[in-house]
Amino acid sequence: MKPTNPVFTGIETTVFETMSRLARTHDAVNLGQGFPDVDGPEDIRAVAAGALVDGPNQYPPMLGLPELREAVAAANKRFYGLEVDPQAEVMVTSGATEALADCIFALVSPGDEVVLIEPLYDCYLPLVKQAGGVPVRVRVTPPTWSLDAQALEAAFSERTKAVLLNNPMNPTAKVFSDAELELIASLCRKYDAYAICDEVYEHLVFDGKAHRPLMTLEGMRERTLRIGSAGKTFSLTGWKVGYITGPASLMDPVAKAHQWVTFTTAPNLQKAVAYGLAKDDSYYTGLAQELMAKRDRMARGLEKLGFSVLPCEATYFLTCGFAGLGLGGTDIEACQLLVERAGVAAVPVSAFYGSDAPSGYIRFCFCKQDSVIDEALARLTAFLTAGRAESA
Ligand code: PMP
Ligand code: GLN
Repeated sequence: MKPTNPVFTGIETTVFETMSRLARTHDAVNLGQGFPDVDGPEDIRAVAAGALVDGPNQYPPMLGLPELREAVAAANKRFYGLEVDPQAEVMVTSGATEALADCIFALVSPGDEVVLIEPLYDCYLPLVKQAGGVPVRVRVTPPTWSLDAQALEAAFSERTKAVLLNNPMNPTAKVFSDAELELIASLCRKYDAYAICDEVYEHLVFDGKAHRPLMTLEGMRERTLRIGSAGKTFSLTGWKVGYITGPASLMDPVAKAHQWVTFTTAPNLQKAVAYGLAKDDSYYTGLAQELMAKRDRMARGLEKLGFSVLPCEATYFLTCGFAGLGLGGTDIEACQLLVERAGVAAVPVSAFYGSDAPSGYIRFCFCKQDSVIDEALARLTAFLTAGRAESA
């Protein structure tokens, strides 16, 4: 038999699915895969339910329902002051994952270089490779996760077609600083490169800070594709509704990629997300505050246990060092031990690197009910205390 496509053959199942399966097998508290354990607002779900019953349930327009595209344009204006034409500059996708595929397939031709900043969300590398692109990786490393300006400058060249930026960043919980954003923008301008911005955590930013899209920087409006996700903004990750904002000239090929990937997205969910995006400011500030309290609850507990918890400015995730806790030498061993013996699933941070990954950090997801966070901490306490007693 002829070989199947190496981009998708013989590779491992994504770490999120693997850890969720292990969590089920070991009846563990699942702090691995990033999803809230309580569904998002009931009023949004009621709109989706009503629209499902009332219909229509036929193919919506390829670019998305006009009301959702208008809502995305309005949100761009309201949160970031961006003037966006809903007709020509917004497209709805089946999740940010599809949006990423559409943007990469639309921009990247075989041989084009794409600058990626490690740690990487899992689908970036395979999608760039499938497009025939050449990934050029730069990394931020724990514990500071700061971006090395020289390394970034060295990664860009005339061959650079695009940079793919995840800000706020999974799994580091990093928000790129103004200086870092300015540098990325200046390199895009210098080398005439596009930016694909995965901003699914745009509303999950803590400590009173606000997200700043790369698209708002000088010269970036016409070269940036900005991706959002209703899954994260409304705690409805299973819905897989995403949206892309970009200049009309780029949205044209992006739409052509979308027409052969999914073509469209469930109409009732689109209606409900349009309703959700218009929610007042208290919804958005409340979401960030609620998550921040969970972050603090989880961080306090982990610190007490001896984990070195790294700063968390945004997202659903805490990354932690585990040196001295007797959890094994690598993050994979630590996660294995924790899921099997402590009954708590986490994710190894090394899974987010292409190669030569740092191996002393694991990621815990904290968007869970307080009782679930407490149960996970109690299990970790019991396990680590017993371990210490054994080795004493
Ligand atoms: N990008 C990042 C950085 C993510 O963490 C995720 C996970 N939700 C996605 C994209 C995918 O989003 P969606 O579920 O909307 O496809
Ligand atoms: N974004 C989620 C995470 O980082 C996972 C999404 C998925 O499982 N595809 O955990």
